[in-house]
Amino acid sequence: MSPRVRTTGNSFPPGGERRSDKRPGEKDAAGSLVLGACAPGATPPADCGRCPRLTDFRLANRRANPGWHNAPVASFGELGAELLIVGLAPGLRGANRTGRPFTGDFAGDLLYRTLAKFGFSNGTYGADAADGFTLEGARITNAVRCVPPENKPTGSEIATCRPFLAAEIAAMLRLKAILALGTVAHDSVLAAEGVRKSAHRFAHGARYCLPTGRWLLDSYHCSRYNTNTGRLTEAMFVDVVAAARQVLKTAG
Ligand code: SF4
Repeated sequence: MSPRVRTTGNSFPPGGERRSDKRPGEKDAAGSLVLGACAPGATPPADCGRCPRLTDFRLANRRANPGWHNAPVASFGELGAELLIVGLAPGLRGANRTGRPFTGDFAGDLLYRTLAKFGFSNGTYGADAADGFTLEGARITNAVRCVPPENKPTGSEIATCRPFLAAEIAAMLRLKAILALGTVAHDSVLAAEGVRKSAHRFAHGARYCLPTGRWLLDSYHCSRYNTNTGRLTEAMFVDVVAAARQVLKTAG
């Protein structure tokens, strides 16, 4: 049976993880493993201003759509998960609107439908952060936490947001596999892990065992553009998530 887990830190991602006075990796009085849930810096502040262009875009969106989230989007799922899925950035009318990764746009429909097929979720996905849908053994984040204009973050913005991704990975003490959706996510994971890019090129369906001991799996991003152009079919995406499930079964 999996050990129970608790989290510690100063700020908490959605999901209601509990606090403990023990350090990450230690067990608390009840024998529960304490996760580095909110390792310092894992969750950007709502008013993060490190990327001036993205901050301006966020503020403009807030003026245009005051009822939307319009802030950095926190990761979704338990920190005790064995699988981390890394996307590119929040979609303007998807995560940037609803406040939950991949929620409210086409990419989320395909992603959550496929995760459900392989037992990575509970409940019914309702394209809304308040739908009661939860993840099981998986966590989802983005390489860039704020919505970029035209869905295209710059290299500098990707690098500026990377410490949040690195802190996220470090806080996931049971993490065995990372599924990167697209080249930006793939490259940012490698950089966050301190792994050489030249030895681990992005390719749809590729699978690498990283020097860190974690697996990295690649898929084309499950965006509407990629499915409309035929670059990614639902069957191809199903195969990748099936491979992730298989890796988790066999990884020590
Ligand atoms: S993309 Fe990341 S680093 Fe840049 S402003 Fe948003 S949260 Fe901050």
